[in-house]
Amino acid sequence: MGVTHHGRTHRLDLADPTLREWECTVLHADPEQGIVLDRSAFYPGGGGQPPDHGVLLWQGVQTRIVGTRKGDDLWLIPAEGDPLPPVGSTVTGAVEDERRTRLMRTHSGLHVLCGVVFRDFGALVTGGNMEPGEARMDFNLPEVPADFKARIEELVNAEVAADRSVVVRVLPRVEALALPDIIRTQSNLIPPDEQEVRIVDIVGLDVQADGGTHVASTGHIGKVQVVKVESKGRANRRVRIRLVD
Ligand SMILES: [Zn+2]
Repeated sequence: MGVTHHGRTHRLDLADPTLREWECTVLHADPEQGIVLDRSAFYPGGGGQPPDHGVLLWQGVQTRIVGTRKGDDLWLIPAEGDPLPPVGSTVTGAVEDERRTRLMRTHSGLHVLCGVVFRDFGALVTGGNMEPGEARMDFNLPEVPADFKARIEELVNAEVAADRSVVVRVLPRVEALALPDIIRTQSNLIPPDEQEVRIVDIVGLDVQADGGTHVASTGHIGKVQVVKVESKGRANRRVRIRLVD
């Protein structure tokens, strides 16, 4: 698949996570399978980040996109009953900005959380999940330090205030895997046949292999609240965060 294409679709979201509107051509459209575009900025879901919502606009008609399906191609799922654009037609794609922007802030916020918990408590990630504006992340942490919840909230917000740059780059697999601490999950999730690895670097804090969309610097995350720390098994701690605004 590579990191710029999924099947016949050129993925615009990976090169420019700020892109919200673009022109494209419909390669396939049917109510069962969905719609395939030649160029798409719809994040298809993955790495814990849910897919985008949005619309296709054509000839004064709107097709709402409510999800995606990843197969040989990147299928966009239209809202039930919405008209489908004809194959070969040019349409304007538009990603719903509020949902995507909150997901980017939330996803980058999780990386900051992951970065401070690894740096200051040495804990690896065992799982995670996010919705726009709220998320959870599980850590392997046998002992919970005193004031853990308050301390990580303070540490995360200090990194937000530091406004660290978030840099995305694509490296050959061997080079990427040679980076120290690149695999922050307990199991290595990089597919064995992937020759290039996309790296998300919160400069000075956290470097991870990651396929998601992120804000340009940590200041864009905004204030983060640590809602709860729960024990889920002997060594497993679940940290719930949310964006304050
Ligand atoms: Zn991530």
